[in-house]
Amino acid sequence: MKDEKSIERFARPAMAAFKGYSACKSPDVIARKLGISVERVVKLDANENNYGPSPKVAKALEQYNGYHIYPDAAQTELCELLSKYTGMPAEQIVAGSGSDQLIDLLVKLFAGPGDEIINMVPSFAMYRFYANLNGTTTIEVPRDADFHIDVKGIKKAVTPKTKLIFLANPNNPTGTMTSREDIQVLAQTGLPLVVDEAYYEFTDESAIPMMTDYLNVMVLRTFSKWAGLAGLRVGYGVFPLRIANYLHGIRDPYNVNVAALAAVRASFEDMDYLMGNVQKIIAERERLFKELNGIKWLKPYPSKSNFILCDVLKGKAKDLQKTLEDRGILVRYYAEARLSNCIRFSVGKPDEDDILLAALREIGR
Ligand code: PMP
Repeated sequence: MKDEKSIERFARPAMAAFKGYSACKSPDVIARKLGISVERVVKLDANENNYGPSPKVAKALEQYNGYHIYPDAAQTELCELLSKYTGMPAEQIVAGSGSDQLIDLLVKLFAGPGDEIINMVPSFAMYRFYANLNGTTTIEVPRDADFHIDVKGIKKAVTPKTKLIFLANPNNPTGTMTSREDIQVLAQTGLPLVVDEAYYEFTDESAIPMMTDYLNVMVLRTFSKWAGLAGLRVGYGVFPLRIANYLHGIRDPYNVNVAALAAVRASFEDMDYLMGNVQKIIAERERLFKELNGIKWLKPYPSKSNFILCDVLKGKAKDLQKTLEDRGILVRYYAEARLSNCIRFSVGKPDEDDILLAALREIGR
C-alpha cells in the first residue's frame, strides 16, 4: 500500500469517528513549553494526591525481584488484601488497571450496541466514553442547579433498553454527595447500579453496606486518590458474586501489573501515613473552600472530595485556565454545557494552593 487512505478505509467508521477523552496535559510538556523545571509546575488539574504514595512503595518496588514473571492471573493476594480492607469476601472483588478499566468491563458485560446506560450529568466523562466505545447510548439526566441528582428524572429515563446506571459518589467534577435514601431509590429500580466511590476515603460514606439488601448494587474504588498511586493504575470493585465471576472471565488475565500489586501491599502496610495525608487534604479542602469563597468572582461548590468546582462569575473560565497554565498552574476546564463557565481545582498541599490563590487574586485585580 502506498498511501495512508488505503489502510484507513478498513478502519471501522464508528471508531474512526470516535472522539477521545480530553485528558490533562502532562506537567513535563507544560514545563518544556514554559521553559521552567517540572518541579515548578503546580499540578491541580487531575485530582491526584500531591503527597504522593507511601515511601514504603518506592522501597517495595526497588526490592521486588519478580518483574520478569507475569502477574497472578487469579488476583489471589490482591483480592485477599482488598477483602481485609473492605470487609467483603475476596470472591466478590475484581481489580482493574485503574477503576477506569472496570467501567469499561461493566459496560461490556451489561450493555451492548442499541442498549442504554443512565448518567447523571455533569459527571465523570469516562462513563460516556466507554458507553460510546461499546456502541451503547448514554441517556443523560441533568443534575439540579447545585448538582444534586434528579431521582424522578432518572426513574422517568428508564426504558426497556436501560441496562446500567452510573452514579459517582461523591461526584466528579462537582464534589456533590448523594444521600443514602436517593441511592436506595435508584437501587429499587432493580437495574444494575454502579456506585463509583473513587473518592470514598475523603468522605467515609459507602454503598457497600447496601449490597446485602440490594443485589444489583456494585461499588467501584481506586488507589489513585487516597493512596497516591494514579500512575500505577490500580482500582477495584465489589460485586455480587456471579457478576464478579463474569468480570473475572472477561478481563485481561494480567490486567493489574506486579508493580501495582507490590505498591498496594506496601500501601496497606502504611495506612497511618496515608490516612494522615487524607486528613491533611480534607483540612486543606476546607481552607481552600473558604479562601475561594472570599474571591468575589468565584462561586465554589461544597465538596466531599479532593477537589473543588467553582462557577467563574467574571470573564471566561477557559481563559482563566489558560492564564493559570501560562503561569505553570494546571487546573481543569470542561468545554461542556453546564460546566463551560466552571473551573475545577484539585486540593494540593497548602503551599501549592497558596500559589494558586495568590495568582487568582492577582488575575482578578
Ligand atoms: N471514577 C471517578 C469518579 C474518577 O474521578 C476517576 C478518576 N478521575 C476514576 C473513576 C478513575 O480512576 P482510576 O485512576 O482508578 O482509573
